[in-house]
Parts: sequence; C-alpha cells; structure tokens
Amino acid sequence: MPDVFPPTKRSQIMSKIGQRNTKPEIIVRKLLHRMGYRFRLHRQDLPGSPDIVLPKYKTVIFVHGCFWHGHSECPRAKLPETNQEFWENKIEKNRLRDRRNAANLAKLTWQVITVWQCELKDMEALCKRIRHALSG
Ligand SMILES: [Zn+2]
Repeated sequence: MPDVFPPTKRSQIMSKIGQRNTKPEIIVRKLLHRMGYRFRLHRQDLPGSPDIVLPKYKTVIFVHGCFWHGHSECPRAKLPETNQEFWENKIEKNRLRDRRNAANLAKLTWQVITVWQCELKDMEALCKRIRHALSG
C-alpha cells in the first residue's frame, strides 16, 4: 500500500517522533560532546548520582524535567487541574531532594549546573551558559 504522505512530509513526521523519544539528558550529552567536553555518567559515589559529571572541571550537571522538579514560574511545571495536592507534595519532595543533593555536592566543592528541559529550546543560550560555567 502506498504511503499516504509524500516523502518529505513523512520524514518530517518521523523526525518529530524521533525528537519526542529523545530524552533531554541525551540532548545535553550530545551538546557537551559537540563542545568537546569529556564527561562521565551517573556517578553513584556522588550525592544524587548526578546525570553528567565533568571531573576535569569538578562540575556536575543535572538535567531536570520542568514538571517533576518543579521549575519555578515555568509553564511546563503547571500542575494538572485534578489531584493538585498530590502533585504538589510529590514535586515538593523532588525539589527538597534536589536542593539537598546540590548542597551536599557544594560541600564537597563540586560546582552544580542544573539544566532545565525548557532550556533546550535555545541550544545556543544553553551552550553559552555551560561554557561560561566551565570557564570560571
Ligand atoms: Zn522549565
């Protein structure tokens, strides 16, 4: 059976599907790689087992989903209409844990960079922010 979409339309659809399945963390890893940074993943021996670790810069990067980690004033962090209390508690717990991890890492003199999912809309700005943080 012939495809109902012309090839260009089809490839557009397929690339969208690909994007939807791409986790923010993988996007950030690819960006760092392109920027020439070397990193390690999910170091269990550090508080919060950070997503990305750059030992040379003594820096860790957490990639946070705006909703689950309660990105303040972010439209993506808007709570669903129902069960608001449930979500609020859940997300507040995540935020507390994030803060505790960041504080513990700071005590061990690690720099902590938090990348929010919504920041991936502007890769150039994100790239600049990371470069700036790592050059300090
Ligand atoms: Zn956000």
